[in-house]
Amino acid sequence: MSQFKQTYICKNCFNEINVFSTHDFFDTERFLCSNCINNFIPIFEEFKIDNIKGLSIYYYDDELKKVIFTYKGCFDYELKDVFIRPYKWELKLLFHNFLIVPAPSHESKNIERGFNHVIEMFRCLDMKILDMFSKNKDVSQHNLNYIERQKIKDIIYLKNNANIENKKILLVDDILTTGATLKACINLLRPLKPKEIRILVLSKRKFDSSKLKNSNEKPSKISYFQRIMNFKGKNNKIKN
Ligand SMILES: [Zn+2]
Repeated sequence: MSQFKQTYICKNCFNEINVFSTHDFFDTERFLCSNCINNFIPIFEEFKIDNIKGLSIYYYDDELKKVIFTYKGCFDYELKDVFIRPYKWELKLLFHNFLIVPAPSHESKNIERGFNHVIEMFRCLDMKILDMFSKNKDVSQHNLNYIERQKIKDIIYLKNNANIENKKILLVDDILTTGATLKACINLLRPLKPKEIRILVLSKRKFDSSKLKNSNEKPSKISYFQRIMNFKGKNNKIKN
């Protein structure tokens, strides 16, 4: 039998993934070892941008920042499934019948990288993806001040005329900073008369009330979904 034993390697740290439970044994979609799973703590925090409800899976903390950098900046395509796939079924249920519309990323960066990092990270949800947005200038948001960030709306445009009238749209992005990009996208989507718009981001910065004036984002109470996921997280936590 031993020759049939399959070894899984953690896509983040390259250590072998140990099987601790029956659930682990039958779970063929194992991408992270228990150490890395425990470093990726989901928060499922709700927020609102321009009255549109959003959900963030993680906080943009040091651990996540490192992995996002390896994926996005060092072109490590293999990491595409480590972020969202663990919550695939919950998210599919929550956003049933939605069409995914990714926030824009700069085309020349995508060509250099060989993939659109936002699209590939959300592809695991097996939902229809409509790539509608582009930006005509490459700007890295963390280098911009507030005024410059507000100008982001001038560089984002619709690159095709997809018909989204009466459709449910899930706007997705990797990192939510001020919400300026998503706000610009919402303003471009609204005239196309979608039935509903919601936002799902991989991560957001921890809410800082001192920066309230400079942000389009407003905090909200703990959601029902977040509580369910927290509960699930506690019960699934693997003890080392
Ligand atoms: Zn690992």
